[in-house]
Amino acid sequence: EETEPIEDARPKTPVKPMTATEVKVNVSIPEAAERAAATGADGVGLLRTEHMVLSLGKTPTKYIADNGERAYVDELVDGIRTAAEEFYPRPVRVRTLDAPTDEFRQLEGGDDEPREHNPMLGYRGIRRSLDNPDLFKHELEAFRRIFDMGYDNVEVMFPLVNDAEDVARARNLMKQAGVDPEKRTWGVMVETPAAALEVESMAQEGIDFVSFGTNDLTQYTLAVDRNNERVADRFDELHPAVLSLIGDTIETCRELGVKTSICGQAGSKPQMVQFLVEKGVSSVSANIDAVRDVQHEVKRVEQRLILDSVR
Ligand code: PEP
Ligand code: MG
Repeated sequence: EETEPIEDARPKTPVKPMTATEVKVNVSIPEAAERAAATGADGVGLLRTEHMVLSLGKTPTKYIADNGERAYVDELVDGIRTAAEEFYPRPVRVRTLDAPTDEFRQLEGGDDEPREHNPMLGYRGIRRSLDNPDLFKHELEAFRRIFDMGYDNVEVMFPLVNDAEDVARARNLMKQAGVDPEKRTWGVMVETPAAALEVESMAQEGIDFVSFGTNDLTQYTLAVDRNNERVADRFDELHPAVLSLIGDTIETCRELGVKTSICGQAGSKPQMVQFLVEKGVSSVSANIDAVRDVQHEVKRVEQRLILDSVR
């Protein structure tokens, strides 16, 4: 009588290491959601809405003028739903629009965009959204529809906030659009030094989480334009000043019961992962191709911390 060879009893895909720190994945385009979900990540740490909008080929204002508000909201709903469906019930953190004016300028209707000397310090993220509540409400309307459809795994994240006032204004608009801040999971990116320093008062607005946008946090902390090749060698996400802001923010958030995460590129780097896990970050989010390595790195650091604590 034949017996099964021992190899066949082994799992076909490697088993995901169990970690206390969640390991999530960044998704730039909804089309990548299936591949992202297959990594076994604990959710999406960042789903960018930029591509959903930029791929329309028109600025939101122009698109709405040509196709109507409903069509614009439909596009956003479709993009968010693709990821929410793929990951359900794992959480999917969706960020409201954050495209700088120079990217909008390349689209049809882009001639109406402001010409800015330094778009990275300019009209983008929550600043622009708060300045254009009529346009912003379409994004929030997309979230309301997603929640009405039953995708309770979706979370709302606001980019480039500086302080409690930004957070309060975003929260109010969200509420006006029919998304209940008490009922939904929502939070903000920490990607300016101001946001890191103001996290305590921001937390009082009821945020559930913060997520470190280290691409911007590094550029603004070090005054190094992330798009300027001349200073590219000075762009260092592991600079002590950047780590100090991150470390202090995690400490404050732990005291306040606010979850912490990272969704910048540095979340895929072992040294950053090590630093964050030691500080007690709630989750890290990595690029699709880095998820597996980050899962193992997190496991390794957690095991070392446990051993250190019993020695
Ligand atoms: C960041 O700033 O780290 C981030 C994730 O946002 P973006 O790269 O889209 O500015
Ligand atoms: Mg950013």
